[in-house]
Amino acid sequence: MDNCIFCKIANGQIPSSTVYEDEEFRVILDLNQGMRGHMLILPKEHYANIYEFPEEKAGKAMAIASRLAKAAKKGFEAAHMPLDGLNILQNNGEAAGQTVMHYHLHVLPRHAGDDSFPVWSEKTADAEEMQETLTILKGAL
Ligand code: 5GP
Ligand code: ZN
Repeated sequence: MDNCIFCKIANGQIPSSTVYEDEEFRVILDLNQGMRGHMLILPKEHYANIYEFPEEKAGKAMAIASRLAKAAKKGFEAAHMPLDGLNILQNNGEAAGQTVMHYHLHVLPRHAGDDSFPVWSEKTADAEEMQETLTILKGAL
């Protein structure tokens, strides 16, 4: 993808603060460091979103997220900035907050009292709606 900034970053055409790299992925520090240590896991191949991203690669991306989470916990603790929590986030589509249309995972180290994080609104579904939702999802698997 010629005009994709994350393709260029992931493949080293644009310099980045790289935390980790292997044949398939590059992990960088997000420009936005509202949460210190905010990282992005980028596949080197272009996939716009989770619908395009192959399931086999999803496992590897999550394994890298798991490794980074442990490194963040250990590293920040050693630097006397112990973490209080950590989120893994992956946005798909504008409605979900995706702004760069190249699949990526956010790794978000958290400290108590840091900036608020988008959460889902609470609404308990009724039993009939739950049943219909199950039918929709299970039927499509
Ligand atoms: P999204 O909203 O698509 O899930 O996340 C895109 C993320 O990419 C944002 O957190 C934004 O700060 C980050 N970002 C956008 N452009 C760049 C860039 O050129 N370099 C880095 N390191 N991060 C970027
Ligand atoms: Zn791309």
